[in-house]
Amino acid sequence: MNIILVKPRGFCAGVIRAINIVNRILSIYKLPIYMNHELVHNNYVVNFLKKNGVIISENINNIPKGSVLVISAHGASKNIINDAYKRNLIVFDATCPLVKKVHYQASYANKNNIDTIIIGNPRHQEVLGTIGQYNNAIPYVVESLHDANRIKVKNSNKLCFLTQTTLSIFNTYKIINVLKSRFPNILELGKNNICYATDNRQQAVYKLARITDLVIIFGSNISSNANKLLEIAKKYSKAYMIDNFSYFKKQWLNNINTIGVTSSASTPELLVRQFIRYIRQYSNITVKEITISKETLSFKLPKLLKI
Ligand code: SF4
Repeated sequence: MNIILVKPRGFCAGVIRAINIVNRILSIYKLPIYMNHELVHNNYVVNFLKKNGVIISENINNIPKGSVLVISAHGASKNIINDAYKRNLIVFDATCPLVKKVHYQASYANKNNIDTIIIGNPRHQEVLGTIGQYNNAIPYVVESLHDANRIKVKNSNKLCFLTQTTLSIFNTYKIINVLKSRFPNILELGKNNICYATDNRQQAVYKLARITDLVIIFGSNISSNANKLLEIAKKYSKAYMIDNFSYFKKQWLNNINTIGVTSSASTPELLVRQFIRYIRQYSNITVKEITISKETLSFKLPKLLKI
């Protein structure tokens, strides 16, 4: 049996930065430290951080005054940040700079009274954080083509759209086209907000799914970008998303010659390696890696945490 690992997979620059921020804080400050939400949407990472003294408290008012608070990679609303400062928390912002870019666009729209259609999942932490940049203009949210075809806005002449960073590139362009045809004056403020890591992993899984009989995606079901990888892979191959090798079912291998493997932007590479070791125990495998695109982007740590 052949296993094809596709690159790029796994940690993106935003997740690496967020984890480095927390590791630095854990080495400097007294435990526990607090987070407003899971740092990234991966169960392995979250459980690891909890074991190492991180407490997740979505309600800032429950965090003891003077504690250290890390804002998750998905970002937070202005109210959460303000509440944190009011409680004298020591705030470190692990929001991915690419999500921050969306916040700046939202703040610009809000300041200039431009109502905004945010394309994304209204229950996702990133979208909640983006909505939380508004106190003036109206933030609407559309999640699907169905929503895009039905949304009613107050003023279509002062309107823009933004997107969540981890959407499906394929579906989002269809939604944007519907919005542009329904609202010809809509401003394309956040046209390119789907991030490089989402884009690259989706292109890679698309190519992988077309040359394999089964695709295994390592990721957690709370992760938006992991779910989008699954959605794309399923269109072209048999595909499953699992947190780690213990969820893999041997019967998935029936009539399979080639397995494709990838992982979401918040999944540690360790979980892919564990899977390869596991499969090797009961099957003769050859492992090959293909590279669809190269990534070189990295983000700096906040000044206060630099060594
Ligand atoms: S998936 Fe994209 S937006 Fe999200 S943390 Fe990674 S680089 Fe940033």
